[in-house]
Amino acid sequence: MSDLPQPFPWQEDVWQSLLRRAGAGRLPHALLFAGPAGLGKRRLAEAFAARLLCESADAQRACGHCRGCHLHAAGNHPDLLRVYPAEEGKDLTIGQIREATAFQELKPQYAPHKVIVLAPAERMNDSAANALLKTLEEPAAGTLLLLVSDRPAALLPTIRSRCQIIQLRPVHTDAGALHWLQAQLPGGMDAAQVLALAGGAPLAAVQLATGGGAERRTAIMQGLADVALGGAISSAASGWVSGGAEAAVHWAYVTVCELIRVKAAGEGAAMAADDELRRLQAMADSVDLTRLYRVLDRLQEAPRLLRGHANPQLVLEEILIHWATVFPRPRTMARSR
Ligand SMILES: [Zn+2]
Repeated sequence: MSDLPQPFPWQEDVWQSLLRRAGAGRLPHALLFAGPAGLGKRRLAEAFAARLLCESADAQRACGHCRGCHLHAAGNHPDLLRVYPAEEGKDLTIGQIREATAFQELKPQYAPHKVIVLAPAERMNDSAANALLKTLEEPAAGTLLLLVSDRPAALLPTIRSRCQIIQLRPVHTDAGALHWLQAQLPGGMDAAQVLALAGGAPLAAVQLATGGGAERRTAIMQGLADVALGGAISSAASGWVSGGAEAAVHWAYVTVCELIRVKAAGEGAAMAADDELRRLQAMADSVDLTRLYRVLDRLQEAPRLLRGHANPQLVLEEILIHWATVFPRPRTMARSR
């Protein structure tokens, strides 16, 4: 059992609904696990694949003891194909999609069906995406495709529309998530606080607390605060680029989401989890949400632009130009651009 992937504690509801669908024979050809990064979507898809290949009929989880589970744990179940980038950060290739198509056409060897887990689904160039679309348009019976994406809006609409979407949402107050997270954190850290800083994404929270993410986040928020006060956009952007543009976009996105959440909640909102956020929150009191949403749009668009080899400095400056308009500019501060 321990060798096979299991759903995370905060995924229990969606897990049960997946089991019910499987039990009732109501699974479509393709499921798309969608939602922000750091919620464990890939692990959920992997766990579901394991359950589908398990031969114990009524098990809540893959049992770990049957032939299917043994093959899976040994890494050679013939009815499972994982389609992941060859290296972290690389795109899926058309060769990998063709492999998936060929796999789909084989007969299942042991399990009643074959399972393909494909992630991240948004990391495909046009020809790979079109090849995948073809596979979805002409699905072979007995194959379930599990797609995983942090940014489903970046998929071809025609791919999205052929999948049933399993939407995962941030879990700010989920007891299972807090309990799990507390056990991952170094002593003395407050799980609820770290989870709030990570936008309700438990795996991002672990990274934030233990992977040097905290310094990075502080630097990003410092840049946002500087620009909000009239600081130079180009130097803030180049500071972000030097530490990695994609990570900067991630943390800026989490920050803007948090501001929108607090702003929308009005006076009754809980105090922000740390000094930087409180500082921004205080400034956000006087602005309207529309402009914050405009920044959010830019941030959502940015990963695609960055991967399309747009100039990272320009992409980040564009975001910060919009960000600067969110705040009323103090008269005493000269615009230093
Ligand atoms: Zn089993």
